[in-house]
Amino acid sequence: MVDYHIHTEHSIDASGTVSQYCDQAVKIGLKEICFTNHCELDPERNDSFIRFNGKREPFSRAGLLKLQSEIFDACERYRRDGLTVKFGIEVGYYMGIERKLKEIIQDIDLDFMIGAIHCLDHICIDSSRECHSYFNEHDAQEYIEQYYDSAASLIRSGMFDSLAHIDVYKKYGRDYYGQEIARVPHHVMNDVFRMQKESHIALEINTAGMRFMNEFYPAPQLMRMARAQGIKMITIGSDSHNPGDLGKDLDLGTQYLKSFGFDIEIFGKNEILIRSIPSIMGVSIEFDTAKDIIDIFKDNVSEIKEKMELEDLEVIKDIISLFACRRSIKAGDKITLERAELILKELLGLEEPFTCPHGRPTIIILNEEYIEELFKRDYR
Ligand SMILES: [Zn+2]
Ligand SMILES: [Zn+2]
Repeated sequence: MVDYHIHTEHSIDASGTVSQYCDQAVKIGLKEICFTNHCELDPERNDSFIRFNGKREPFSRAGLLKLQSEIFDACERYRRDGLTVKFGIEVGYYMGIERKLKEIIQDIDLDFMIGAIHCLDHICIDSSRECHSYFNEHDAQEYIEQYYDSAASLIRSGMFDSLAHIDVYKKYGRDYYGQEIARVPHHVMNDVFRMQKESHIALEINTAGMRFMNEFYPAPQLMRMARAQGIKMITIGSDSHNPGDLGKDLDLGTQYLKSFGFDIEIFGKNEILIRSIPSIMGVSIEFDTAKDIIDIFKDNVSEIKEKMELEDLEVIKDIISLFACRRSIKAGDKITLERAELILKELLGLEEPFTCPHGRPTIIILNEEYIEELFKRDYR
């Protein structure tokens, strides 16, 4: 099981060190965790901080680099415990943030970027202290529309791997607006999920909703719409703000996911589970060859994953092409004369013998003139 949404003491609303979280992860048997501390960049608000040793400082690239080295260090230390540790952030998105965000994260080796809508009109709707000043000015439908406008813009920015707690607006909205808050227009949701699918942004099953209001984010009716829109990329996280909440309800969240017919398993970013290796053109594959195929998958995982998402049948052809080139005879390899003759015979029997699947030539002609030129000689 993986937990891909975690806040340490570096977030000003959370507690627990990186090591305390890692120890807890090992204790409860998590295979992989991704730290995703807050990155709030709204200049009209006063919550853009990162905290080290109990002292908050303005959120900056330098702070993020310091956090990165702390997490990379844990990654090395906990490897022997069988725990994979990843480095991510949860960005509080508002329209127009993109440039500033790019400057801050440039060249930082982030494994995972969560985008979240925490604020509307620069008011935190995820805060019991602040939300009422927003609610008093808007009815439920305006609230929901403005929220999803912002979410659509988050998706369009193309900067994020996942959209966090998609219906977090219900957290305090339910008490204020009652059942009105659950009335999300179908066309709005369908547009959001369609965009999300096309942009390869994962839907997050966030189990914090269970702790606050006994309901996951997203609510069941949203899960049905996501399924209908063909969402396939899913991530899961506890959104824990202290080590005690790490991994909470992840099993339940997985069951919840499956109950809507999502026939998938959850993995960390850039991982693929290969259940079986098919025979290619009726020929079963040897172990070494299978290992080569897995290497090819590993080297090209993003590209292959993207193509599989698009259900592009060309992907099989591409994989075979990659495979063919990887297994070819390379400079310095020794082969017998018989094998060379056999290869030439097979090659000339093909429909397109003169190029490899990537268009590179398989045969070149070295004529006499060319060889003479190489030796700077003229025999004539
Ligand atoms: Zn959040
Ligand atoms: Zn969070």
